[in-house]
Amino acid sequence: MSLLEVTGLEVEFKTAEGVVKAVKGIDFTVERGQTLGIVGESGSGKSVTSLAVMGLHRSAKVTGSVRFDGTELIGAPAETVRKLRGRRIAMVFQDALTSLHPYFTIGDQIAEAYREHHGGSRKAALARAVEVLGDVGIPEPARRVHEHPHQFSGGMRQRAMIALALSCEPDLIIADEPTTALDVTVQAQVLELLKKLQQDRGLGIIMITHDLGVIARVADEVLVMYGGSAAEQAPADTLFSTPRHPYTRGLLDSLPRLDAEDGEALRSIPGSPPSLLNPPPGCAFHPRCPVYAADPNPLCTGERPLLKLVADGHKNACQLDGVTA
Ligand code: SF4
Repeated sequence: MSLLEVTGLEVEFKTAEGVVKAVKGIDFTVERGQTLGIVGESGSGKSVTSLAVMGLHRSAKVTGSVRFDGTELIGAPAETVRKLRGRRIAMVFQDALTSLHPYFTIGDQIAEAYREHHGGSRKAALARAVEVLGDVGIPEPARRVHEHPHQFSGGMRQRAMIALALSCEPDLIIADEPTTALDVTVQAQVLELLKKLQQDRGLGIIMITHDLGVIARVADEVLVMYGGSAAEQAPADTLFSTPRHPYTRGLLDSLPRLDAEDGEALRSIPGSPPSLLNPPPGCAFHPRCPVYAADPNPLCTGERPLLKLVADGHKNACQLDGVTA
């Protein structure tokens, strides 16, 4: 049994302008000790997907199935989800400064989360806070546990967020852009830390990011999302060596290259992400797709493409993959 099995996940929001279909039928699994990278531009649905797994969409319609270690979470009593959240599934958010409460010490915030799930005395919970701050490499944790978030540097605050997530010894961590606000050196340290913790504890990790460099460092499996749907899914090595979806190829071509010629302009994907309120017909990527632009094919504007298996462990949602002219 997989640690996490997500099947046919859909998330809809009602707005004054109409229904926004933010996630349209996503499937994936996460095993113990595995990192799944979910990548895409803003509005692709990656963060909405992670919040749905955490049961944090109060005003949205969430359907499909999210099974965590055999327990179905969609439609489960709030108490069941609350007990798992924080205790066995933890989240690391992007901006530690706004996620940590400025008024309370780092130690109090970790201790409160720990006592919520484990009970016990404040003293024991603070001792646990010192332990996990040490685990994530905060120097002098017994002293710094009494400091407030503004007394920590950006990298240390992100480590404190990871310590907060780890304090209850979760089985699954969902990290939503955990390194976006950090400089590259600190980013590398935080990613190494997550990797080490994963090896030591057999954690499953979902890494949500727009940054393919982060995905290349940590992910075993990658799900590329576009306009609320899955565009491509493959083991990380395969995705980077043989990307098949034009959107994935566009993302990879947009990465800065060390071997670029002097004066060579950075490439980008033309256009903007689709409206989720009024998405384009057929393949949501077709208004930006270079393949469609070169040779418009009615298949691209017909049915919405779904992921299909195109090679061993490699799935692609391009209508033209495998279609011979
Ligand atoms: Fe491009 Fe058509 Fe494939 Fe969409 S289905 S990615 S428009 S070629």
